[in-house]
Amino acid sequence: MTDSKIRINLRAARTRAGLSLAQAAELTGVSKAMLGQIERGESSPTLATMWKLARGFRLPLTALIEDLVQTTGSFAPAERDPLRFQGGIGVRTVFPFDPVFGSETFLLTLAPGQVHLSNPHDTGVVEDVFVTEGALGVLLDGEWQTCRAGDGLRFPADRPHGYRNPTDAPARFHNTLHYPRTALLDEGPGAD
Ligand code: MN
Repeated sequence: MTDSKIRINLRAARTRAGLSLAQAAELTGVSKAMLGQIERGESSPTLATMWKLARGFRLPLTALIEDLVQTTGSFAPAERDPLRFQGGIGVRTVFPFDPVFGSETFLLTLAPGQVHLSNPHDTGVVEDVFVTEGALGVLLDGEWQTCRAGDGLRFPADRPHGYRNPTDAPARFHNTLHYPRTALLDEGPGAD
């Protein structure tokens, strides 16, 4: 089962771009079969797949996983439970993509021992990691750096990177993505 918001947003993004399933597969690197399954609600995408789709369509992740993108002034954190992607990483949107600031913020939860590797984001994208609970390893340039609660790390995210929880307790961290103006083709979703 695919979250209905993801299905709707994905189909809307593909339609807006005027792409067939095959063309969208070419653009995003996600197979045509998988794209069709996600759009029909027959398959649950992994977070890695969602990032491939976001990057391919040149959209922030929240354009695919949230109902709508809020503009400045709407800073209320989302209340609902985190989205659970295959593999178990918990993702809750804290601040949806804001076209003025060019950023979006998530609260990510890693189970004990869990590792999550991330493909490069679009050129110029920068990530902030701010650990709120537990301890987190961040993979940068092939080396794991340890961050503890209260630590922050900012790094260029247009290269492979990753996160792991080396402890036996849950790890939580805020993850902000900063998109330079050139990283997104338009002003984000809703700015037709
Ligand atoms: Mn990332």
